[in-house]
Amino acid sequence: MKTKIKVQNPIVEIDGDEMTRVIWQLIKEVLLEPHLELNLEYYDLHVQHRDATNDQVTIDAALAIRKHGVGVKCATITPDAERVTEYNLKKQWPSPNATIRSVLDGTVFRKPILIDTIPPSVRSWRLPVTIGRHAYGDIYKAVEFRVPQAGKLEMVYTPEHGEPTRVPVHEFDGPGVAMTMHNLDASITSFVKACLTYAIAEKTDLWFGAKDTISKTYHARFRELFQQAVDQRKEELQAAGIEYRYLLIDDAAAQLMKHEGGMLLALMNYDGDVWSDLIAGGFGSLGLMTSVLVSPDGKYEFEAAHGTVRRHYYRHLAGETTSTNSVASIFAWTGALAKRGELDQTPELVRFAQELEHAVIETIRSGTMTKDLALVAGASGETAVSTEGFIRAVAERLS
Ligand code: NAP
Ligand code: MG
Repeated sequence: MKTKIKVQNPIVEIDGDEMTRVIWQLIKEVLLEPHLELNLEYYDLHVQHRDATNDQVTIDAALAIRKHGVGVKCATITPDAERVTEYNLKKQWPSPNATIRSVLDGTVFRKPILIDTIPPSVRSWRLPVTIGRHAYGDIYKAVEFRVPQAGKLEMVYTPEHGEPTRVPVHEFDGPGVAMTMHNLDASITSFVKACLTYAIAEKTDLWFGAKDTISKTYHARFRELFQQAVDQRKEELQAAGIEYRYLLIDDAAAQLMKHEGGMLLALMNYDGDVWSDLIAGGFGSLGLMTSVLVSPDGKYEFEAAHGTVRRHYYRHLAGETTSTNSVASIFAWTGALAKRGELDQTPELVRFAQELEHAVIETIRSGTMTKDLALVAGASGETAVSTEGFIRAVAERLS
């Protein structure tokens, strides 16, 4: 029997929900356990376990990543009213990703996996477009208020020492809604730092898009902090041949459609949420989009960018054969394993991760793929393999 590669230090494993939970188990059993002596610290973020622990398990998982430096996360349900009924939950628990991001104050980078037989839907794209999403604040930490009737709305800021400042917002003459958002110079600065570090490491141009013509204080602050950091690291950027561009967000949208790609597109939190799915769709499938959360002090959490693939899960529960793409989930594992290997200086683990990625890409290039990809590749969905069939095909190629 082949000796297994030993993983030296723990990887924080965060289990999740629905179809991705099914895939998660298969990846471990079929692709990892036969080759690796895994060293995992397990946190079960199944929505009912989050409910049972009053969401403490999510915080514990985030703290564990802080401690061990590397985590890998399965997609999880962010409960809405419908899910509260479906799973009989105490309440609509917050998004686990938002909780983990705020504990780590991290930046999320999403990069599509390019496969030459899967053509992007934008003809000019030849290189991956990576999205750097600022992962703190804005609407994700907003305070909202349902204005019941006519009245005056103000923002009040009370400094630690001194008199409050009142900022008039609106004179309502009837019911409506209101929201207050915030962000922190420290968080924006670490976002900017993470983007520049990523761009320099990957030798990729950096674009930042926002709307400072309209948001002359909030968005303008992001632009300012970007420019300051770019000025400070001018020589480093020049040496790496990297160009920094600030674009208005709508201009960035138009430019992107006629560009060949190959840049890191830095975006504020909400823009990053929306655009990363748009880019994933444009490159073929959500199932080909990888995601990594990087904290300013170098802690990493790897995941797939997609959700729990709910519609497929209901088919799975009904006993139907599914054809769900596991590639981004597999790459979450290879990302975590390679990072663990790099930090622990175990090159054999890094090599295993590379071989597994190679096996995935070659399996698809040879024509074995799930339905989402078969449709993009121009094959009929009829020739697609099942969820499990794909993972088994990768396993065969790997060994
Ligand atoms: P989703 O899981 O991203 O799936 C949306 C649709 O995209 C699927 O129905 C499927 O389309 C396609 N798709 C996504 N991933 C795919 C894959 N790996 N292989 C094949 N097709 C794929 O979003 P959702 O179903 O709207 O959301 C389900 C749950 O996920 C929600 O409760 C949400 O809160 C959660 N969520 C979690 C995360 C996270 O943990 N990172 C991120 C987003 C959403 P077809 O049905 O057309 O085949
Ligand atoms: Mg999203």
